[in-house]
Amino acid sequence: MYYPKTFNLGDIVETKKEHPCGSKQWEVIRVGADFKIKCLGCNRIVMLPRPKFEKSVKKVIKSAEIPENEQ
Ligand SMILES: [Zn+2]
Repeated sequence: MYYPKTFNLGDIVETKKEHPCGSKQWEVIRVGADFKIKCLGCNRIVMLPRPKFEKSVKKVIKSAEIPENEQ
């Protein structure tokens, strides 16, 4: 499945592996060379380098990016 190579703060992503708490959904709370993601199941925050983050993401569930500007 396609997923964008850019991520925004507030994106909700699904990882290939589930967290020990059973959730696969994470909120992106920091982007850059290192990513910080928060588990939506237990609110634990994990920091990992971007390449590792990109590998572990299966898909973006909800993008925080707004496609059209409001006028
Ligand atoms: Zn968790």
